Amino acid sequence: MQTLSSEATATRSPLEEFFRDYVEGTGGAWETVEPQVYDVLLPSAEAGNELDPAGQGILRVAFDPEALPEHPAAQLASFGTPLVDRLLRAAAQRGRCAQAYLNGLNLAPHDLAGRVRRTLRLPEDLELEVRRVRTLHFAQTVFWFEATFVSDQKEHEILSIAVDLHHGRQVRHLEQLLDFQRLAEVPSRYLAEAHRMSVAAAYPLAREQVVRTLTSLANVRRRELTERVQRQIERMDRYYHDLQTELDEQMRRARKRGSDLAKFAPRRDTLDREHRLRVAELRQKSTLRVQLRLVNLLVIRQPKLLLPSVAVPASRPTAATELDLVWDPLTESLEAVTCPQCGSPTYVFQLDRLSRPACPNCGAATRRAK
Ligand SMILES: [Zn+2]
Repeated sequence: MQTLSSEATATRSPLEEFFRDYVEGTGGAWETVEPQVYDVLLPSAEAGNELDPAGQGILRVAFDPEALPEHPAAQLASFGTPLVDRLLRAAAQRGRCAQAYLNGLNLAPHDLAGRVRRTLRLPEDLELEVRRVRTLHFAQTVFWFEATFVSDQKEHEILSIAVDLHHGRQVRHLEQLLDFQRLAEVPSRYLAEAHRMSVAAAYPLAREQVVRTLTSLANVRRRELTERVQRQIERMDRYYHDLQTELDEQMRRARKRGSDLAKFAPRRDTLDREHRLRVAELRQKSTLRVQLRLVNLLVIRQPKLLLPSVAVPASRPTAATELDLVWDPLTESLEAVTCPQCGSPTYVFQLDRLSRPACPNCGAATRRAK
């Protein structure tokens, strides 16, 4: 790839790049016939079914519509064509569940102990001692959900969320985590894995977070929808009002001519009924339904530094508490520490009634209980 001139690469669309990678990645091969036209050998009957339902084995594929007259047997590949729809569907199917390693991080940060101490806010009489530094793989899972909003129109939205499987918390720096320059199929170094929950156990956490986001998205859409439908109803009201006015005018002229007015009453009723029906239809269409489904997930294993530490109150050295601190070399920061009493994340520690380190909530609660 690197040997190609940047000019040749620049003319290829992301779809074309993806197509080449996909064919290679699934065990097939491609050959350039001319720029943007390929002969593709599909790997196996199983994969062939995805892209080549006719079972031809070799496909000629053109990314440039202008090349089609010269290659009448070629299939056009662009968004929305059957070939690309099948390709994307097959790729999503294959990638339902994947795993990767995040490499290339600095695992020997300068003055680690000092940075840890500066990050944590400890009471004066609490001494923190970092006992060891262990480099371990920490697993994080990215969930991709597809939300479908159905009303008078249908819209899809992809929502992604990452959960740290060690702490069981949401990962805020999702973009940094999905740095495809750093993600690889194999680790640069094999490491033991830190204690973690299963992906299945993390799923409810992810879903709970996503439902929260979804609720606000749905509220925005519902507001827009209500306004849109209200405008349509107003238009409809004006339309039927105009028809009624026209009917009144016809009646006025008929009365002048001395004609029979009896035929106007049923027409007026019909208009009324039609008007009510159309408005009811519009209101019905303005109900918003939302569907949510999990489409893909990726487990990312990343080296982090586990720092088994101990917090010792100066006044009661026997009340030493073990704290597992975690340094994340990706964000170059200390992760929030799990409060030994309540399990919530915290950077601030106080001493509770028994001189044990705890988060401000637990510290304050036990002091109140005194
Ligand atoms: Zn607590």
